[in-house]
Amino acid sequence: MSVLQRVLNVDVAIVGGGIAGLWLLARLRDRGYSALLIESEQLGCGQSICAQGIVHGGAKYSLHGEISESAEAIAGMPALWRRCLSGAGEVDLSSAQLLAEHQYLWATRAPTSRLAGFFASALMRSRMDKVTEKNAEAVPMALRHPAFRGTVYRLDEPVLDVASVLMAFAERYHHAIVCNQGPMVRKADGTLTLHDPGHLHPQQVIRPSVTVFTAGAGNAGLPWAPPQLRPLHMVLARGTNLPGPLFAHCLGVREVPRLTVSSHYDASGRLIWYLGGGLAEDGVRRDRQEQIRAARRELSKLLPWVDWNLVEFATFTIQRAEAHQSGGGRPAGPSVLRDGRVIAAWPTKLALAPLLAKQIEEILRSLDVRPRSTDLRVLEGWPRPGIAVCPWDWEDLAWS
Ligand SMILES: Cc1cc2nc3c(=O)[nH]c(=O)nc-3n(C[C@H](O)[C@H](O)[C@H](O)COP(=O)(O)OP(=O)(O)OC[C@H]3O[C@@H](n4cnc5c(N)ncnc54)[C@H](O)[C@@H]3O)c2cc1C
Repeated sequence: MSVLQRVLNVDVAIVGGGIAGLWLLARLRDRGYSALLIESEQLGCGQSICAQGIVHGGAKYSLHGEISESAEAIAGMPALWRRCLSGAGEVDLSSAQLLAEHQYLWATRAPTSRLAGFFASALMRSRMDKVTEKNAEAVPMALRHPAFRGTVYRLDEPVLDVASVLMAFAERYHHAIVCNQGPMVRKADGTLTLHDPGHLHPQQVIRPSVTVFTAGAGNAGLPWAPPQLRPLHMVLARGTNLPGPLFAHCLGVREVPRLTVSSHYDASGRLIWYLGGGLAEDGVRRDRQEQIRAARRELSKLLPWVDWNLVEFATFTIQRAEAHQSGGGRPAGPSVLRDGRVIAAWPTKLALAPLLAKQIEEILRSLDVRPRSTDLRVLEGWPRPGIAVCPWDWEDLAWS
């Protein structure tokens, strides 16, 4: 039996609508390429909606005392994102919002000798201000207590409202984003066949000059580009006695933050503290109850003036998906692998999505893919994906 098919030729098909795919779509379409993004569920529903939204400027990656390759790659990102949020950057994110202008770094004790190298480095001195008595009003409300011990630094690192960023892309490029919930057949040359499970549309063949997979863990479907998955056990806290919003890395003796806190409001307007960092990395060895106990212990040590018994907690696990590294560590920057005209890409960090898109555009030029216009109206009736739900609004979370 022959199946009715339609064929659409485009410059670039992008598979996966997290931050990597969306930024690439925006960059390519703004430069005149006929780019199309295909998402199987909801935009951002992998890692992006679970990100803490910090546009790292390199601090977290320099804590071992040297300015690493990753720290240099990332150093320009806060300024680049700020330009885009003001509407004057390479993509227009003027409808998206920041949750905070600055992430803070708070050290609970005098820096160890290696951490001292970090605090002394020229790059970091230009990217953070120590909060002293002179600018004490810069101390976040949550840390303003006579019992507070430690030193506070204000980093040049804004914190994004990730859902609003995803929404900004979805609104601007909706005509070039489709949802394919059925099976997607992929040929080795990158040709894709979309199926409409509701059978309202004939099969749609997409014939791109180049196909880019930005599907996070979903890139595992490419046998030559298996991702590495690194788990995190994240914690959410809510309660009326949370001491206000906090955006901060808390530094202990180790060279990774012992706790990273970002703050959000759920759909009912309740303040949520979202806890990552060392707590989430070490927490993969703990079950839910143990992880909640560990979070309470950590918060009670760091902010003993808050009654943590009145705060409710929930946890969930999530995998970071990155390009495979021989030692299993975090890649230094964005990763791009290519097999002919098929590309697999991971930004490694949400903040690095702009760098990844730039690298992919350079590959397109090297493959002599030139912008051309294509009428996407043939896709008009196809379903469009929504935006993923933020973790603090997930219905299946168990709070206790
Ligand atoms: C808990 C956590 C906190 C983080 N915090 C930060 C932070 O504060 N700052 C920072 O810079 N980075 C942070 N990161 C890292 C950042 O979230 C990721 O690097 C980034 O979001 C990856 O984006 P992506 O688009 O590659 O993947 P994803 O966001 O995972 O998107 C992949 C998309 O592909 C879709 N997909 C999968 N398979 C298919 C398929 N077959 N067909 C079509 N679509 C498909 C998925 O549905 C999804 O929408 C954090 C990560 C985690 C897990």
